[in-house]
Formats: sequence, C-alpha cells, structure tokens
Amino acid sequence: MNLNMGNEPAARQLEKEVEPFLEHVLPLRSGHGDARWSTRRFLRVMKFGGTSVGDAACIRKVIEIIRRGSAESDLVVVVSAMSGVTNQLIETATQSEAGDRGCATKILEDLRAQHDTALKALIHPGPERDRIARKIRELFEQCERWCASTAVLGQLTPQMRDSISSLGERLSAPLVAVALAAQGVASEAVDATQLVVTDGYHGAADPKMDLTRERCEARLRPLLQQGVIPIVTGFIGATEDGVLTTLGRGGSDYSATILGAALEADEVTIWTDVDGMLTADPHLVPSASTIPEISYREAAELAYFGAKVLHPKTLYPVMQKRIPVWIRNTFASEKAGTKITPGGHAASVGAKALTAVSEAALITLGGPVLSGVPDVVGRALAAAASVRTDVLMSCHSPSCNHVCLAVAAASAQKTVEALRREFARDAKHDGAEHVTVDSTVAILTVVGHNLHLVRGIVGRAVDELSRENVNVIATAHGSMERNASFVVARKDIQTALVTTHREFQLCVLNLPQESRSEAQAL
Ligand code: ADP
Ligand code: ASP
Ligand code: MG
Repeated sequence: MNLNMGNEPAARQLEKEVEPFLEHVLPLRSGHGDARWSTRRFLRVMKFGGTSVGDAACIRKVIEIIRRGSAESDLVVVVSAMSGVTNQLIETATQSEAGDRGCATKILEDLRAQHDTALKALIHPGPERDRIARKIRELFEQCERWCASTAVLGQLTPQMRDSISSLGERLSAPLVAVALAAQGVASEAVDATQLVVTDGYHGAADPKMDLTRERCEARLRPLLQQGVIPIVTGFIGATEDGVLTTLGRGGSDYSATILGAALEADEVTIWTDVDGMLTADPHLVPSASTIPEISYREAAELAYFGAKVLHPKTLYPVMQKRIPVWIRNTFASEKAGTKITPGGHAASVGAKALTAVSEAALITLGGPVLSGVPDVVGRALAAAASVRTDVLMSCHSPSCNHVCLAVAAASAQKTVEALRREFARDAKHDGAEHVTVDSTVAILTVVGHNLHLVRGIVGRAVDELSRENVNVIATAHGSMERNASFVVARKDIQTALVTTHREFQLCVLNLPQESRSEAQAL
C-alpha cells in the first residue's frame, strides 16, 4: 500500500489540547511584583522518573539533587513509581481479572520485598522506618483486597485498574520523603488525589485547572512557607468527588507541569535517565545528540509522535504561562540538559530531531458498505477522540469512502471498538468486516520549524530509506510545517531512524559551528 496521509488531526489536536489551559492565564508571570509574591523565593517543580527512583542508590542521588536545589529555591517534588513497578501492577490487575490469584499475589509479594529492601537501605531502624514499613504493608494489603474483588467479579473496571496501577507512586513518595527527612531535609509526602482535580476519564484523565489551583494553594503553599518540601505522587489525581484517576502512562511529567502551572512556578525540571531531549531516542540511535534549547511546539510535537522522554501533554499547562521546562539527567547532574522555551533556539529552521512510535497500527475503515454514507471522516475522527486516541496520521479516499487512521498500537483496540460502535447502524445489513487493523507498522516523524523551507525533505528521506531497503508505506506532512511522518514496517524502524538521522546530519546539529564544519568535512 502506498498512501499519502495528512497530519491535520495531529496538528489540530495539538492546538485544541492547549485550549483548556488558556482561560487560566494570569496577565503576567511577572506578577511577582504584586504584594502576594513580594517575599516569594524562586519556585521550581522537580519531577523524578522511574529509573531515577529505581532503587536505594538512585534515591540517594535524587536526595542529593533535591538538597542542592533546596538551597537555591523553593521546591515541589513529583515522583514516579520505581522503574517497572507500574507495569507489574497492571500485570497483577490483568491476572486477577483472569482469575489467576496465585500469579497476582506473587507479583505483589515481590514488589513489597523491593520496597522493603529500599526502605531498609535508606533508613536506620527506628520509629520512622517502622511508620513507613507499616504504610507499605497497608498499601499492599489494600491492593490485595482490590485484586481479590477483581478476581471474584472476573472484571477489571477502568476505575479499579487506575486504583491498582496508582500504587507505585503512593509507595515511592513516602519512601523519598522519609529518606530526605533522614538526611535533615524537611519534607512531607502528599498524595496528588488531594491536589490534582480531574475529569472522570479513567486512564487518561485531564485536570480541572481552577480547582487544582485552589487545592494546591491550600495544601502546598503553607508547606512551602514553612520550608517543607512536598513530595507529591505523580501520575494520579482524583475527580471532584474524590475518585482516583490516572493521567495516562508516563503521566508524572504531566503532573509536574500541572502543579507548576497551578502554583505559578518559575521553572519545571524533569529529571530522567538521559542527558535531555536528544535528536532521537539514544537507545535506538547511538549518535543522537542533546538539543540545548528547543521550543514548546517542537518538543510537544516530538512527545506527541512518540518521544517517551515527555508525556504527550506535558507542555500544555505551561505554554501559556511561558514557564520554562528543563530535561536533565539524574545520573549526570553536572550536564546542563535541554531547556524547553516558548521560542526555542531562534535561528533554527529545518529538521531538528526524529521520533518514532515503534508499535503503531493502521486502522482502515470502509468498503462498499459505507459508500454513500455522509461525513465518514468526521465521524471516524470524532469516534477516535471519544476514546482519547491520538490520531497520528489520517487519509481518506473519497471515491470509495475509505478512511485510514494511524494510531499507537496500544490505542488500536479501543479505537476499533469505538469505530464499530459509531458505524454499526450503517453496516448492519452487511456481514462483511468494515474495520480492519494492521498492527505490523511503525511511524517515524521528522520534527523541526518551517520544514517546508528545506528543499525536498520528504523526497530525501524516502530516497535514502529506499537505498537502505526500507519501504515507505505512507507519508504525511503536517499543516503547521513542523512535522513529516513516514509509515514503515515495524522491523525496519531502527534502520529507518539511523538512516534518516544520518541523512539530515542531526548528529552534528548541536555542535558548535567550528566543530560542525569539521565533522561535515569528514
Ligand atoms: P522516566 O522514567 O524518567 O520518566 P522515560 O523512560 O519515561 O523516563 O523516558 C526517558 C526515555 O525516553 C529515554 O531513556 C529514551 O529511551 C526515551 N526517548 C525517546 N525519545 C527521546 C528523545 N528524543 N530524547 C531523549 N530520550 C528519548
Ligand atoms: N508510573 C507511571 C507509568 O509508569 C507514570 C510515570 O512513570 O510517569 O506510566
Ligand atoms: Mg516517563
């Protein structure tokens, strides 16, 4: 299949996602001149990801970063679950639904041992260690009960899935807080269900910013004024009625910017396991280089099209407030990292970085059954949006009312179900399947400013890929001229990334001019 697709839905979705945050803009972030702010110190939100809190040794590095940071500014800290824990919890929930209590219990026992080991390595025996050990035990007992009721029902509701998968953050936050306190840094674990008010969409909830701001002022501001560092659980929130929700996988980044925006922070820093935002995922493209500065738009585009280093919605809350976001490496804290700013590096035009959704799916809707049916495209996109699927690319063949949507493979199932529901009535007289899925593809996206000013960007990529025997199944160019996407077979994605990275010379892009000329001459 060779299709030409559009990235319109992706571009529109990016614009639309920022909207809910617009009405909350205070006129000035320089509101620091106002009496309310006159005694306020610089406020930074620091978020530490799963690998950064992966074990006791990593948590010690985190503590050192927090201690140094707290000498310079007020801090609010957001933590993820320890690396791999959320995956294990989701597995526990799934096994419980399938009725395999033994497997679920074994996973929970291992997770409990992992947290107990970290606690013992970080805290000397005594009342504080006992207090947190008790808390850990209670959280696991509660999770056991949830798993038991899931097994009895034989059904995992979205609400229960959120509750079980939230456990990792509810364990790591008290652990980090007590470890900090043991080092003489005043801190308090705070459950984000008390702070982040969301809608009721389990698994991909969005914040209600006015209510979130009120709660943050009431709960966090007094701690800051007392010199206490709040250690907040990432990833989770709660509806106004107090029902726990999650913000989607990787959602702790989003938690950090939601809190940053709610508290009018001066900066947000995402501490992770790589040197910043790179020209490609360094685990797939070893020659990728760190981008010193990048615009909100480019970074949001990279995140939307798969760069896992940022949750896709991370930048929406801070864009209007112009709060800079840094990405830095917990394990190389001396490095500057990447600064994400409103305009990025002013001089930049052209390809800046690559990203990939390595596990994608092409969903095709259509066939004779839909011929003559009005507004198939609009209804298909609305159906995808109703289950919060990010449509990465789309195309439409009007002659046969054929629509093709490219989505992350993880979203394929729910999208197919939504499409079948939407078109059930149109297709009811036809036994043939009108929605089909190809889950063997991947999507590579080139991101940069004004890509249209660089001659033949799509052609160059396609030519070079075909020289490396990578077949391009479909291409798409975003209307905002900030992205160009290529669908390839999943098995080819790494070759495609390495080849495109070389073709656009991204490995030398961030070198100083002299070194760049030397490298290009080689
Ligand atoms: P954390 O646990 O800190 O949230 P994640 O695993 O979610 O970390 O995100 C960091 C990972 O994102 C990196 O290890 C890297 O493999 C991946 N990644 C993908 N694209 C990029 C990119 N352009 N720049 C940096 N990292 C990237
Ligand atoms: N622990 C959650 C996840 O693994 C959130 C996060 O790490 O940001 O998805
Ligand atoms: Mg992450």
